[in-house]
Amino acid sequence: MTCRHTEQQLQAWLDGELSPSLAHALKEHVRGCALCNARLEGLKQLFDAVGDLPGPPAAPELLGSTLRAARDLAADRPVSAWWTTLPTMNKGLSVAALAAGLLLGVVLYTTTFYDTAIASAATSVDTLTVLTGGQGDYL
Ligand SMILES: [Zn+2]
Repeated sequence: MTCRHTEQQLQAWLDGELSPSLAHALKEHVRGCALCNARLEGLKQLFDAVGDLPGPPAAPELLGSTLRAARDLAADRPVSAWWTTLPTMNKGLSVAALAAGLLLGVVLYTTTFYDTAIASAATSVDTLTVLTGGQGDYL
């Protein structure tokens, strides 16, 4: 690898764009060549200096127009718009359906709970009856 070839590839090497074999050859050349090593260090310092520069300030008119566009978009589609567009009767039916569902859930849960409790108590009585030999004076 020549110094001229290395100079052309230094940027790509720093950007990680070289193949592993080409990167290895370039690294070996730079290690043994003071001129290319100095070029490499100069490029690194340049990139570090560029990286420390602040970005360009946002244009005030761009910021204002972006905020206005966001406000207009939010005004056109408010979050609760779907609810306010429903007719009043639909709102009433929705609330009634929700209440009926909750009531049905409570009834089913309560029924299942008591059925399970009664079955469990019957099993306990049966177990005690067997353990006491059917005497029934275990209470
Ligand atoms: Zn060189």
